Formats: sequence, structure tokens, C-alpha cells
Amino acid sequence: MRAWLLEESPGTYREADVPTPDPSGDEVRVRLVVSALNHMDLWVTRGLPRPPLPHVPGADGAGVIEAVGERVQGVAVGDEVVINPAVSCRTCPVCLSGESPLCPRFAILGEHRWGTHAETVVLPAANVVPRPPGRSWEDLAAYPLCTLTAWRMLRRARLRAGETMIVVGIGGGVSSAGLALGVAMGARVFATSRDQAKRARALALGAEGAFDSEADFPVKADVVFENVGAATWDRSLRALAPGGRLVTCGGTAGSKVELSLPRLFFKQHEIIGSTMGSYAEFDQVTGLIRAGLPVAVDEVIDGLGSLPRALERLEVGAQLGKIVLRHEV
Ligand SMILES: [Zn+2]
Repeated sequence: MRAWLLEESPGTYREADVPTPDPSGDEVRVRLVVSALNHMDLWVTRGLPRPPLPHVPGADGAGVIEAVGERVQGVAVGDEVVINPAVSCRTCPVCLSGESPLCPRFAILGEHRWGTHAETVVLPAANVVPRPPGRSWEDLAAYPLCTLTAWRMLRRARLRAGETMIVVGIGGGVSSAGLALGVAMGARVFATSRDQAKRARALALGAEGAFDSEADFPVKADVVFENVGAATWDRSLRALAPGGRLVTCGGTAGSKVELSLPRLFFKQHEIIGSTMGSYAEFDQVTGLIRAGLPVAVDEVIDGLGSLPRALERLEVGAQLGKIVLRHEV
């Protein structure tokens, strides 16, 4: 099969012919119709983290089942499916308690195992779900990783209807999904960006207000939704109302931050880390997609061979929502 291959890290991707992988007992092979980009696709080329090599990137995708292992039940050749990129063992006590993102063998497609920027991908049958009807292939590639991550963040932050939420640094897939979920959950959602055009798009997506990321935020929030990190950290903390919760899944603009302990305890703030999501959370997210949750697709680029051009656009950071590759032109 054709695949984008990383043979050293730090390094660059090369389009290559590699042996088509066969599914073992509980696995399936999916022929990808679409895949979507994530910052992970850039980070693994910089050795942050260094994946097992050679490596095929890509966490998000959707397509058609073309082979199944001998123990697979409930999934058949020809089924149209969406991929859940959060892979865990599903048998340890942590997984059985429903907290599979904390599994010691937790792995992300395209980071710890071969991903979706290839003609096919092999993964556990438990990591595919039937394609929700009524949604485009592009939407189906765009929602899994970012909406799963945003959904678990909001669950962990205990966002409730009527509460105020600030999405810091609207632009990428996770923040766009956080905005859509917050609106759907009945929260008052505000967004920040340095970019006027992105602030305008946030308002169009249902935000009640949008302000500059580089000035103090003019509202106090019950939940601050962060994945920017150092560049906005202090403003994000100061925007928390008493009892407020800051939830973060990353630091795309700096990973080292400072904390004022008196403010933390006196205002009784909480700082909550979150990553990816569980199998049950993926089912919940897919249910929301089936019910019509908006998905922010920034651009659809034709051809698996266009990955380098798509990565350039991701690197510039001009997008609002996901960049999707449509494999068959
Ligand atoms: Zn486990």
C-alpha cells in the first residue's frame, strides 16, 4: 500500500510503498476514504515524542472495512466505519473500570502505532464504530480525536448548562470542538484569539462573545478551556470565577507555566488535566455527531499525496477547524 513513512525522528515524511498489514485475531483493516491532520503529525517529526520507527502518522480517519481477524464479531467486510484513535488493552482493571485513557498500555493511533495517512490501517475491531448516517466523510474524519478530547475535558471540568466558559485560542480542532460542545450543552461560551477573522468565525459558530487572546479577558468563567499553555496561562487563571475550573489538554504555545498558590487556594480553583477519551466517551461523541453536532472543517485537500501541503497549512496555524485529506481523487 501507499503510506507516508517516517524513518527517523527528527526527520521528514516520505511517500513509500509498504507491505499492506494483515489484521490479527481481534483486529480489522480499514481502507481509508479520508484522514484528518493533527499537531501530533508535526510533533513526531521533531522527536516530540519519538514514535517506534518506521512510523506512519495520522490519528483520524474513516473508511470501509476490507479484512477482519478470525475472532472479530459484529464488524464485517464492506462496513463503513469511523475510527476511534484511542487504543487501550480493554482487559486491565483500569480499562474495565471505564477509564481506558489511564490504561498502562494506552496508545494513540499515529503516535504509538501506525496511523491513517496511508491507504489502509489495521486496528482493534473495538476501535471502529458504524458510520453515523447523514454526515459527510469529511465530517467523519474531522470529529474523532478533537471532539473526543474536548468532550472528556468538559466532563472532567463538570461543565453545566447556564455556566460561563471561555475557550482560549480558538482555531484548532480541539478548541473548535470545545466551542461546539459548550454551546450544545447550554453553556454561555466565549472564545479568544489573536486573529480578528477567527474571532468572527467563533461568533458565527455560536460564541456569545470573542476577545483578543493578548489582553485580559473581560469576563469571569466557571470553566476555562485551555490548550495554548504558557502564552495565555496567566490570563486564563485570572479569568476564573471563584470555584472555577481550568481544564487543559496541552500547551501548543509553551509547556512550562507558573502558578500563584494564594490565588489557587483562596479562590478555590481547580486545574484539571485531560487527554483523549474512553470507549464509552467515544460512543457518546458519535451519538452527538449522529444528532447533528457541528464539526468545524477548515479545508478539504484532495489526494493522500498532498500531506506535505496540508502539514504546511497546519504549521502556519491559519485554520479554524480541521484539515482533511480525501484519499481517492
Ligand atoms: Zn487497560
